[in-house]
Amino acid sequence: MTAKSDVLIIGGGVIGLAIAVELKLRGASVTVLSRDFQAAASHAAAGMLAPHAEALPPSPMLDLCKRSRSLYRDWTRKLEDLTGEPTGYWPCGILAPVYTQLEHPGCSDRDASGVQEWLDRDAINLYQPGLGSDVIGGWWYPEDAQVDNRALVGALWTAAQCLGVDVRNRITVEVIQQQQRQVIGVQTSAEVIRAEHYVLATGAWSNELLPSPVRPKKGQMLSVRVPEHLQPPLKRILFAPDIYIVPRRDGRIVIGATSEDVGFTPHNTPSGIQALLERAIRLYPQLQHYPIQEFWWGFRPATPDELPILGTSPCKNLTFATGHYRNGILLAPVTASLIADLIWEQKSDSLLAHFNYSLGVPIPASTTTGIPAFSIMI
Ligand SMILES: Cc1cc2nc3c(=O)[nH]c(=O)nc-3n(C[C@H](O)[C@H](O)[C@H](O)COP(=O)(O)OP(=O)(O)OC[C@H]3O[C@@H](n4cnc5c(N)ncnc54)[C@H](O)[C@@H]3O)c2cc1C
Repeated sequence: MTAKSDVLIIGGGVIGLAIAVELKLRGASVTVLSRDFQAAASHAAAGMLAPHAEALPPSPMLDLCKRSRSLYRDWTRKLEDLTGEPTGYWPCGILAPVYTQLEHPGCSDRDASGVQEWLDRDAINLYQPGLGSDVIGGWWYPEDAQVDNRALVGALWTAAQCLGVDVRNRITVEVIQQQQRQVIGVQTSAEVIRAEHYVLATGAWSNELLPSPVRPKKGQMLSVRVPEHLQPPLKRILFAPDIYIVPRRDGRIVIGATSEDVGFTPHNTPSGIQALLERAIRLYPQLQHYPIQEFWWGFRPATPDELPILGTSPCKNLTFATGHYRNGILLAPVTASLIADLIWEQKSDSLLAHFNYSLGVPIPASTTTGIPAFSIMI
């Protein structure tokens, strides 16, 4: 018989773990259930913290992303202090080379806030030697950054364990049991587990447990390694219109990513990898000589409006934290903080209203089947 936690989090990717650590630090007892830690999108990501390079328009989403990026330095330092493990946070900036004038809209070359600066061909080649000859210039985003997302989720997992979160891998939540707009327990592959409050943080798989508009968007990736006799030639991320190249401090270089509507179809494909390699070599030709290290793929939790789903649900004791699409690594610290405020302090930040998704179709009075117990509309 499992002791009843204050909060049970379904999903142990970056979002579920970040919320678990935050709640535990505030005094809650927390359980995390995860079907497959390694299959999480959080392992597959590139780790860019890139609200500016992603060209998000002025919006609550941009505000949310910028707030999260500003939390990153202290948040990762806290995790590193707790665990003794690195997270690979690196405020390296992002260089966004372009190939045509169309991609340089000709607006101010340096905006007043200093978040972006235009570099012409000579300037960009001085700044980053070795770019392909098709590059005509590019934008420099000094405030964007990166984290080694695999190291980060490893550190989050360790932090959760060190703090006393009950973290369990290889356990699947099969049904969310509901009664009178309350979750009364979750049926798992092992047993029924109950808590006072529940969080849905199952990423691209959210739709398997509750009807939601989250669907998988597959991304294929690969990495190469800088040969040992060379100094790492890249000191910042390269983010071109059709490819990104993310150098890690340990000499790995991550290259991504495809964006495919193929459901949960696994594996890398020759055409996916060929496209990534062609684009990467066009952008940074010397990559063609580096040894390939690894291929992998993952599933982004996409939503129709590309916004995360955060906050209250039609069940009083169930909170949503899903649908982070392309920016879940970036959004982890702000999600953790806002969701912990909501659950533990009953404080709802005004930003949350923009990501709410609990418009109401009535919930049947009681269900303990696998049939979705309520439906939701945008
Ligand atoms: C190729 C690629 C590149 C990306 N690059 C970036 C980037 O550079 N920057 C950025 O910010 N974001 C990036 N992302 C997006 C980011 O990875 C995701 O938004 C983020 O990881 C989502 O985290 P999550 O915890 O919600 O989901 P996940 O990390 O997918 O974790 C969900 C977890 O829930 C578990 N689960 C699912 N169903 C159940 C169930 N029924 N019972 C129990 N457990 C369950 C899964 O096994 C999994 O462990 C990228 C994604 C991909 C695929």
